[in-house]
Amino acid sequence: PILVDRVCKDFGPLRVLDDVSLTIEDATFVTILGSSGCGKSTLLNMLAGLTPPSAGRLTLDGSNVTRPGPDRVVVFQQAGLYPWLSLRDNIAFGLRMKSARSIDWARVDELIEVMGLKGFENHRTYELSGGMQQRVAIARALVMRPRVLLMDEPFGALDAQTRHTMQQFLLGLWERIRATVVFITHDIDEAILLGDRLIVMSARPGRVALERVVPLARPRHWDMTLDPEFLD
Ligand code: ATP
Ligand code: MG
Repeated sequence: PILVDRVCKDFGPLRVLDDVSLTIEDATFVTILGSSGCGKSTLLNMLAGLTPPSAGRLTLDGSNVTRPGPDRVVVFQQAGLYPWLSLRDNIAFGLRMKSARSIDWARVDELIEVMGLKGFENHRTYELSGGMQQRVAIARALVMRPRVLLMDEPFGALDAQTRHTMQQFLLGLWERIRATVVFITHDIDEAILLGDRLIVMSARPGRVALERVVPLARPRHWDMTLDPEFLD
């Protein structure tokens, strides 16, 4: 599990997170909802190991989170693909970082298939729609076989229709990968649709407090069918 224990975060005089504590159990889908500026991304970036807390502790399975690692990958609102690389090389990029010698190309191609990106392997970013770019970003994250998938408004830049498709897609995918997902959104419908568990953050001047943890019942049927082979 992920443990956030009495975490505070200050940026100069500004206290962005104040005494936040929560536990995230393995293989749960947690959505974090809160108004702009309440510290959602700051919390997610701390879970990623990108920024340290000013006080308190963050642990994954008892180990302090102090740096980014392949067990915890982030998908941002902007897909952030490398424009000079093909779709296939974008997905393989993290594996190349991890071990330049042996890239599991079968895994890469399997993800291309699962993500519905077949036929676009050699396309560059500018030749892909926004929804496709986000699917590439998700594939690039999943290829690392992360324990924890951290998603910061990943569908925020998509139109309503594409967003809906991607939500269904992500749910179907999550059923198979069973990673822990922490998913930030502004959109209450999205938070309720996707989350096993909903965390609402509230912003006060210089202070952010965890407000509520609500267990949610999610619909159990999805449009998307996925290859059952895609388990690991
Ligand atoms: P949004 O919904 O708009 O993405 P958020 O909840 O993700 O908002 P954060 O990005 O976590 O909010 O920012 C929380 C506060 O911390 C904001 O006031 C922001 O200006 C400030 N902040 C974030 N990162 C830094 C930084 N590196 N240096 C200084 N201030 C920062
Ligand atoms: Mg944010």
